[in-house]
Amino acid sequence: MSMLFDVVLLAAGESRRMGADKLFLPIGQDIVLSRAVSAFYNHPAVNNIVLVYREDTLDLIFSVIRALDKSRFRFVTGGAARTESVEKGLSACKAEGVLIHDAARPFLSRSLIDAVIHSVVKSGTGVPALPLSDSVRTVKNGVIDGALDRSMLYTVQTPQGFLTAKIKKAYALRDGNYTDDSDLYSQKIGPVHIVKGDERNIKITTSGTYFGLNSNIGIGYDIHCLVPGRKLILCGIELQSDRGSLAHSDGDAGIHALIDALLSAINERDIGTMFPDTDPRYDGIDSTILLSKVMELYRAYHRGINNVSIILKLDEPKIRDDIPVMKIKLANLLGIDASCISISGKTTENTSPDTIEAYACVIVN
Ligand code: MG
Repeated sequence: MSMLFDVVLLAAGESRRMGADKLFLPIGQDIVLSRAVSAFYNHPAVNNIVLVYREDTLDLIFSVIRALDKSRFRFVTGGAARTESVEKGLSACKAEGVLIHDAARPFLSRSLIDAVIHSVVKSGTGVPALPLSDSVRTVKNGVIDGALDRSMLYTVQTPQGFLTAKIKKAYALRDGNYTDDSDLYSQKIGPVHIVKGDERNIKITTSGTYFGLNSNIGIGYDIHCLVPGRKLILCGIELQSDRGSLAHSDGDAGIHALIDALLSAINERDIGTMFPDTDPRYDGIDSTILLSKVMELYRAYHRGINNVSIILKLDEPKIRDDIPVMKIKLANLLGIDASCISISGKTTENTSPDTIEAYACVIVN
């Protein structure tokens, strides 16, 4: 069987630099802590997650994991310093490997976890590291004193992966405070192998690192002809109309534009590539099913939607009274609050009375 990993998830920091507890700040529809929890929870090589928490945040911690299988979590209160917290967390680990992660890094990707795990399986350690992009100087009394050779300097991130027995041994030998686990390990046990870090895997330490985090914009567009004898379906609801969209599917231009916006935001190909109209499976298909498939992709990639804006452009029928129902329908399909969805109607001013057009924009993070 392939190696299993327990995760020590460090969520006991005091966030002195931010005023509020950074782990419970919102990121789109999520909060910071839930991003790291779900990244590990959904990884097939992860066994248990040891949450190292601060006593006064226990209620918030439980709200984060309320929908998850509690038997996969262990709860350990943090220590006075990071090393102490890790040591307490490690004592609850039983799997062969361990990943130690700062919960204040919510944007760790599946591929980064894979790379760390691969390195541990291959060489016993795996730590993400990035070469410095800025020049570095030594400074004395406010004056530049000298330059350092940047080629040897790396910043290290988490998750840091080890064989559980070996990192426990390193902690048993510790005689002071260390900046992180790789520092302790390399001083007490042996070489620590690096894997390529991820620039998006930032640590939220100040409000400056929090705002506008990890956002992507997506844009989508769709157009269909309106013809007699078809239903008119827009944003998942059927409208009163004697004409409807000419299309292979149900011709829901609103959802098609939204799907393209969602796919473009995560750099995936468009709706026509994902659901080709030459494929008989999509003949007359309810577009809400296609949207659900895109949301499965979002869950797999750990991406969340911040907000959605849609413009529906058609002359007849008037859609103003249907918009609130459309918003609720889309909110349910996207798993977000209806207040995060805007839909507005426009007419073509009789320039193209036989078409329905839709534009959609999304911000995802
Ligand atoms: Mg279409």
